[in-house]
Amino acid sequence: MSIEESPPRDFHAYIKDRLKSMEASGLLWKPRTLEGPSTVWTKVQGRKVLVLSSNNYLSLSTHPRLIEAARDAIREYGVGSGSVRAIAGTMKLHLELEEKLSEYKRKEASIVFPSGFMANSGSIPALVGQGDLIVSDELNHGSIIDGVRLARAERMIFPHKNVEKLRQLLEENSPKYNRILIITDGVFSMDGDIAPVPELNRVAKKYGALLYVDDAHGDGVLGESGRGVINHFKLEGEDIIEMGTFSKAYGVVGGYISATEDIVAYLKNTARTYLLTGSTPPPVAAACKAALEVCEEEPQLIESLWKNTRYFKDALRKLGFNIGQSETPITPIMVGDNERANKMAEEMFNKGILVLPIVYPMVAQGTARIRTQVNARHTEEDLDLAVGAFESVAKKLDVI
Ligand SMILES: *Cc1c(COP(=O)(O)O)cnc(C)c1O
Repeated sequence: MSIEESPPRDFHAYIKDRLKSMEASGLLWKPRTLEGPSTVWTKVQGRKVLVLSSNNYLSLSTHPRLIEAARDAIREYGVGSGSVRAIAGTMKLHLELEEKLSEYKRKEASIVFPSGFMANSGSIPALVGQGDLIVSDELNHGSIIDGVRLARAERMIFPHKNVEKLRQLLEENSPKYNRILIITDGVFSMDGDIAPVPELNRVAKKYGALLYVDDAHGDGVLGESGRGVINHFKLEGEDIIEMGTFSKAYGVVGGYISATEDIVAYLKNTARTYLLTGSTPPPVAAACKAALEVCEEEPQLIESLWKNTRYFKDALRKLGFNIGQSETPITPIMVGDNERANKMAEEMFNKGILVLPIVYPMVAQGTARIRTQVNARHTEEDLDLAVGAFESVAKKLDVI
């Protein structure tokens, strides 16, 4: 039955129909199930596979320090917090995490959310409203897009990393609005390129706007001890709102905003994804804090991530792959059309390597790719194995 034939209010027929057409267009997710931890080698469908598609850049999710911190927290506090942060769900562990984070980020204050998605979707509408303006990079993450949609402010999009276009937008429009928030990803998740944060900040200051940087893929990866993109550009001390996540390089889960004391106090009283949701479970809060400590105490992990990044990119480049504009451990292998990207990921899996095809509508038509992410714990042999597999699959599929 097609959509047209379904009685207009037959809910279940409509959903069945949508599922069918998504399946037919190859748009349904078919995630592989991990039968072990998120480590560089894990078990999927009963066999050992090499993972090149995890955000767990430093393999902190299985780091003994984090596991021990989580265990201790469970013994002392249990597995749940019992409430939202604002009522009876603020535990000492939450405050310790926020304090540690502020110290690590060298910011006045921090607020922790259950996830990065919630940090964005709750903070943006809390910070700006009617009469205000949000200006957002066209390739910003979906959680920013949703946060922007929930805000009552006007919104404008600037072309990817185009500081001059942003300047023009503000030159023409800034007098019409009260407050202005400029939002960008620090590292863009599909291409691995880095936002021009110093230039964006200069434009923000010129027009009295505030810059908000989502550093999900820069945390634990860029800057001294993985302090992120703001540290990387030596912009600490600038009036910039830093948002990030514990679900990627920090290896756990959770989101945060680090900013001025006033902004954080304001968010703790206005962000609905903070006020109206159960707070971070004790083992998670404890493990997140341990992750920051490990980043400070084991810089060799981050060095190893970058060494692997250079090694892997060089090898792919030598083979003639188009690996885009990445400046980070995210390396896209450009393939072109959706079908070829799907086929390539499938063939890689048959060779025991887990990589993800990124296809339309996640990226523009014709720019389908395999997104790879190296890990601090990959060995040179692991990376050689992956490169060899990419070479033979790509030759077979006419990618190189
Ligand atoms: C992953 C990601 C998020 C969401 O973070 P979670 O903590 O996983 O919810 C937000 N922004 C960007 C840029 C991301 O890559």
